[in-house]
Amino acid sequence: MLKTFLTENNIPFLENESLKKHTTFKVGGNASFVALPEDKFQAVKLLKFLKENEIKYYIIGRGSNVIFRDNGFDGVVVKTANMQQVDYIGETAVFAGAGVPMNVLCKSLQEHSLEGLEFCYGIPGNVGGGLYMNAGAYGGEICNAVCEVEYIDENCEIRTIDVKDCDFAYRHSVFQGKDWFITGCRFELKKGDKDKILEFMEDIMQRRIDKQPLDKPSAGSSFKRPAGYFAAALIEQCGLKGCSIGGAQVSEKHSGFIVNKGDATCSDIVALAEYVEKVVFEKTGVAIEKEMIIV
Ligand SMILES: Cc1cc2nc3c(=O)[nH]c(=O)nc-3n(C[C@H](O)[C@H](O)[C@H](O)COP(=O)(O)OP(=O)(O)OC[C@H]3O[C@@H](n4cnc5c(N)ncnc54)[C@H](O)[C@@H]3O)c2cc1C
Repeated sequence: MLKTFLTENNIPFLENESLKKHTTFKVGGNASFVALPEDKFQAVKLLKFLKENEIKYYIIGRGSNVIFRDNGFDGVVVKTANMQQVDYIGETAVFAGAGVPMNVLCKSLQEHSLEGLEFCYGIPGNVGGGLYMNAGAYGGEICNAVCEVEYIDENCEIRTIDVKDCDFAYRHSVFQGKDWFITGCRFELKKGDKDKILEFMEDIMQRRIDKQPLDKPSAGSSFKRPAGYFAAALIEQCGLKGCSIGGAQVSEKHSGFIVNKGDATCSDIVALAEYVEKVVFEKTGVAIEKEMIIV
C-alpha cells in the first residue's frame, strides 16, 4: 500500500534501507522505507498518507545529529535531501529549502557577498536540521540570521512562523517536541566583502580540521555545553579521553566527540555516552547531557 502510494506519487524511496548510509555516525539497523520528497507539496501528500494510515515516521536532514537503534526503524524515515530550493529575494534575503546542506548555502551566500551565516560553514547538516537544533559554532547560531521559517503543521497545512516565535535558545527551538516538518526558511543577511567572508570560512574550516576528529564517523559534539563549563574539558579532566566501549570511543583528538572506530553499534555509542555522563557527574558534580538524538 505504502509502496504503491510512493510510486504513484513519484516520491523517490528506498526500501529496507540501512540507516548506516543515512547518518554520519554510520550505525543503526534498517528502515522499512526511506522516502525523499522533492518539494513541500510532495511532503504534504506523504505526511497526510502516513498520518491517515497510522504509519510511524521520523524526519531527518543529513543525519548528522541523529542515530538509529541497531534493530532499525519499523516505519518511514522521511529525508529532506531532495528539498534543495535556493531563491534569492531582493538584495539581502534568501529562501533555502530544508534539504539544502549548510555548506552549500554558505558557499552560495559568499558568492553573493552576503554575510551572516559563515560561522555555520563546516556544520555537516541541512537547513532543516540546523533550524531544529539551532545549530551554532564560533560564537554564532543559525537563529541569528533567520527571518521566518516555513513548515507543515500537525494538520498537514503549510504555515510560516516568525523568528520571534521560534523560541530559539542554545541548541533549542520550538520545533523540538512539535509534530511539524520544516520545509524551508527565509534568512536575512547583510552585504559584506566576498573575500573577507571566504577568508573567515576557510579559517573556521581549518580550525575544525585541526581540532576535530573529522576522519572518523561521529555526530559532532556528543554532549551539550553545560552552563559555565565545557563538556570536553570535564571529560578529559575525568581521564575519559580515549575510553572505549566496543567500537565507540571518546576521541583522542577532541574529548567532546564520541567516534565510531569502524565497527561500532548504536548500543556501543549509547553505552559509552551514558558511562561518560555517569563518571563526569560522580567526579565533578556537573550533569552533562547528550546532544545527539537517539531514535
Ligand atoms: C563532524 C561534525 C561536526 C559538527 N559540528 C557542529 C557544530 O559546530 N555546531 C552544531 O550545532 N552542530 C554540529 N554538528 C551536529 C549537526 O551537524 C547539527 O546538529 C546539524 O544542524 C544537524 O542537521 P541535520 O540536517 O544533519 O539534522 P539531523 O541530524 O538529520 O536531524 C536532527 C534533528 O532535527 C530533526 N529534523 C531534521 N530536519 C527536519 C525538518 N525538516 N523538519 C523537522 N525536523 C527536522 C530530526 O528529526 C532530528 O530530531 C556536527 C556534526 C558532525 C558530524
